[in-house]
Amino acid sequence: MSQRVLVTGGAGFLGSHLVDRLLDEGHEVLCVDNFYTGRRDNIAHLLGHPRFELLRHDVTFPLYVEVDSIYNLACPASPVHYQRDPVQTTKTSVIGAINMLGLAKRLGVPIVQASTSEVYGDPEVNPQDESYWGRVNPIGVRSCYDEGKRAAETLFFDYRRQHDLSIKVMRIFNTYGPRMNLDDGRVVSNFIVQALRGEPLTIYGDGSQTRSFCYVDDLIDGMVRLMSTPHEVTGPINIGNPGEFTMLELAEQIISMTGSASTITHLPLPPDDPQQRRPDISLARDVLGWEPSVPLSSGLARTIDYFREALAHADS
Ligand code: NAD
Ligand code: UDP
Ligand code: UDP
Repeated sequence: MSQRVLVTGGAGFLGSHLVDRLLDEGHEVLCVDNFYTGRRDNIAHLLGHPRFELLRHDVTFPLYVEVDSIYNLACPASPVHYQRDPVQTTKTSVIGAINMLGLAKRLGVPIVQASTSEVYGDPEVNPQDESYWGRVNPIGVRSCYDEGKRAAETLFFDYRRQHDLSIKVMRIFNTYGPRMNLDDGRVVSNFIVQALRGEPLTIYGDGSQTRSFCYVDDLIDGMVRLMSTPHEVTGPINIGNPGEFTMLELAEQIISMTGSASTITHLPLPPDDPQQRRPDISLARDVLGWEPSVPLSSGLARTIDYFREALAHADS
């Protein structure tokens, strides 16, 4: 059935893909974004669409609208961006969550929260399943993001316990794909842009740290499935691709796939950078019947094509 759906952070990387998917399914979409890291380019193709509405708004302020469901994605996600104004990052996660939960409570509608694998911090267990409580530094440079998202999870579960809200918390692991910003600062976009420009690929530390990369279409599929689950399903639920790679392997694969003459250079490892990260997705398999279907090589090929074109525009 067609619904009116609110997507906060809808002009961002993941948000804009979610909006596309919801419009394709026949829903009306209200996209709310303050354009802190989001871009008009991500949603330019939707302006004028009869079922798409855009509202420039900061979720740290109350929002009174009428919708049937809420996806709360508003929050900068790249370490470079979320550390630029860390106080605003915490406010966005915490006050933004309170406002969106207040909205969901008034309307009696389900709300999906874009949480993160960062709640696991620098984990002592690998892979991470949802029962792991995490190892997070409360006072470091990543804390505004990690602890902001952890406090948001607390709020979601307290609104559930106090008000029986239909909450759905997803812990998103590193996701990549078209529409990441050229200057996003995350590893996949950095490496691809550097390789295409023939610049050295910047590995932080010795490159032995691992991440698991999920292609954006797979991630959005999991997110939409989560929203359609019954009231009993609250999460938290990991959504990510269990394939685990070192940053050195990723750099070598991107150099080879782009046919680049780029070399590799090593820069200092940022503080509190997790050494390993890999999702246990048993719960998503059981509850959502979901698992990723796009292998890293195909996802990277599509993302490289996207950045080739984006760079041609940016450099022309
Ligand atoms: P992004 O930076 O591209 O998108 C975030 C969007 O939120 C942007 O459009 C930004 O302008 C908007 N925003 C930021 N603060 C806001 C505020 N106060 N009010 C309104 N809008 C605001 O990042 P993304 O990769 O698309 O991430 C989307 C969500 O998914 C975030 O909540 C992020 O924490 C989460 N997440 C992403 C990943 C990933 O790998 N991409 C991993 C884990 C979690
Ligand atoms: N809120 C909102 N839109 C709504 C309802 C609430 O933005 O439609 C905000 C409002 O600013 C409030 C917050 O959500 O402070 C939490 O709402 P809740 O009803 O839980 O708490 P209270 O209003 O009692 O503070
Ligand atoms: N990284 C890197 N070179 C870069 C950007 C990031 O080696 O140009 C490393 C970073 O130190 C981290 C990993 O790649 O170990 C993933 O970083 P990203 O910022 O993409 O995501 P997160 O650390 O939030 O998982």
